[in-house]
Amino acid sequence: MIAGDNRERMQLPPQLETKFAELLGRYPVKRSALIPMMLYAQDYYGYLGDDILAEIAIRLELNIIQVTETLLYYSMLRRKAVGKYHIQVCTNVSCMLRGGYEIFDHLKTRLEIGNRETTSTGTFSLEEVECMGACTGAPAIQVNYDFYENLTPESVDLLLEELQTGMKPQPVACTSGSVHERHDFEKLVISRRFGLENSRSIDVYRQNDGYKALEKAVKEMTPEQVIDEVKKSNLRGRGGAGFPTGMKWSFVPKDIPKPKYVICNADESEPGTCKDRPLMEHDPHQLIEGVTIAGRAIGSQRGYIYIRGEYRYVLDIVDKAIAEAYAAGYLGKNILGTDFSFDVCTHTGAGAYECGEESALMESLEGKRGYPRIKPPFPAVVGLYGCPTIINNVESLSAVPAIILRGGEWYANLGTPKNGGTRMLCISGHVNRPGIYEVPLGMNMRLAIDELGGGVRGGKKVKAVIPGGSSCPLLKADEIDIAMDYDSLAKAGSMLGSGAMIVIDEDTCMVDVARRIMHFYAHESCGWCIPCREGTAWLQKMLDRFHAGHGTPEDIPLIGELAQNMLGRTFCPLGDAAAMPTISIIKKWQQEFEDHLHGKCAYMSAADILAMAR
Ligand code: SF4
Repeated sequence: MIAGDNRERMQLPPQLETKFAELLGRYPVKRSALIPMMLYAQDYYGYLGDDILAEIAIRLELNIIQVTETLLYYSMLRRKAVGKYHIQVCTNVSCMLRGGYEIFDHLKTRLEIGNRETTSTGTFSLEEVECMGACTGAPAIQVNYDFYENLTPESVDLLLEELQTGMKPQPVACTSGSVHERHDFEKLVISRRFGLENSRSIDVYRQNDGYKALEKAVKEMTPEQVIDEVKKSNLRGRGGAGFPTGMKWSFVPKDIPKPKYVICNADESEPGTCKDRPLMEHDPHQLIEGVTIAGRAIGSQRGYIYIRGEYRYVLDIVDKAIAEAYAAGYLGKNILGTDFSFDVCTHTGAGAYECGEESALMESLEGKRGYPRIKPPFPAVVGLYGCPTIINNVESLSAVPAIILRGGEWYANLGTPKNGGTRMLCISGHVNRPGIYEVPLGMNMRLAIDELGGGVRGGKKVKAVIPGGSSCPLLKADEIDIAMDYDSLAKAGSMLGSGAMIVIDEDTCMVDVARRIMHFYAHESCGWCIPCREGTAWLQKMLDRFHAGHGTPEDIPLIGELAQNMLGRTFCPLGDAAAMPTISIIKKWQQEFEDHLHGKCAYMSAADILAMAR
């Protein structure tokens, strides 16, 4: 309790007491427990009232203002109750392309409520949300924490009826099992255990090479040798930036008295991206082994796996796997009888795309708003709690056990020069077979769309491809005969990004695509720097206006100019992420913007546009 504090204490139910005590044991700084505590309290009470917030503040020795300023930043934390079944509908690009808005409209009609409203009985509430990581199962919704994917208005009706009668319809697991049908099993690296019965259990993991790499790393290799092997593999960060992983690890100072930290970034929120979800869901031990080997490499004793708040069932799976790893001696003190000790725990986010940026993620892990830090210093030197820290994506860390076991050279040879290994590709949008596929780096994009994605639905043609998540400049149909690796896509003026390929067919309105992308970035801008905060808000307004038929000829260059002025002028990459797709769309599909001035649109009839404009 803060000195002089005479606030009333609140009696907590036993399950919250236990959870809070466990959370407090996870961090060297109490405030780090703030976001998970609020989320678990909200799960229990339905919302965050004054009493529970005051109680959390007392337990964490914070002022109430510190608690509320953090709370207000995260979209999943709420001050008001919602319905017994809180239905969240994604309308971001992948879902939009497959009927997300139709599902949302259907729910509004059926429940007779609007966005962020609750039915009079308190049974249902409805909310339009940003990408929830179910892109290959679009259109998707979440009911409380459960995912329901590939929906139609009819299946939504069925779902509502079942919920109303008190049944709990079976939520879906991540759509990734099909990976074996179209692949040579021998060529799979990090998804090769997907589809095995009980693939997430430690027994199955051990029967399939599990924890052999850790044994090798702690008993036969020095930390320097581990880093060298990862360098040899040409593994580049799979979160989006593509920075060489081994090099990142080598930046951590060796002889420093401070603790060192490993953070796994499992906050995947880039629209179109849903690959880390199956990696954690189907093979959590592979990730835990990768995190632990990373700890060995940099001389760390503590790792955190920061999982986006929407992935609650995944968090439970990873927690269970961590407990199994402790029980088997792969985590904790003196791992496998050596002098290496390492602890790992999960940490839940609470809905903020910005926390996928590494320094914002560290702020969030420290229990604060997810504002990015100014760099340098870089996290390898000054990171979590001011200590040296490496942050790697789930996919990057999941590749580490195979690299250590089979050698960096073997892994490098799976890809193209300087682009080692394989990549998890999320193919969503207008394809026949959306899915998550592990492919060698450098695979031809058109081939991936045709052979893995099964081509475009309804025999239509490709109009555009978002190659690596919504922040990437878009490619036109005549630009997609391209090797999917970091360098080839950079040469083509785009990015491999997070491996989220969104395929858009010839009948799609690109003004609408630009509009929806900008809505996302305007929503997610943390507001810290002016070009991003004002730029995304203005662009959102202008694109809305244009799409609704109120655009003017002057708007077209102005949209491009505004986006151009955001480039390189913001503290973190979100400003660029908002600007780049917009610039590419207005440049490559300018004709569609001009057509809108005359009431023409590939998506809507002239009558619809004129009706909107009225
Ligand atoms: Fe925040 Fe946007 Fe600036 Fe990033 S670019 S710091 S998200 S305002």
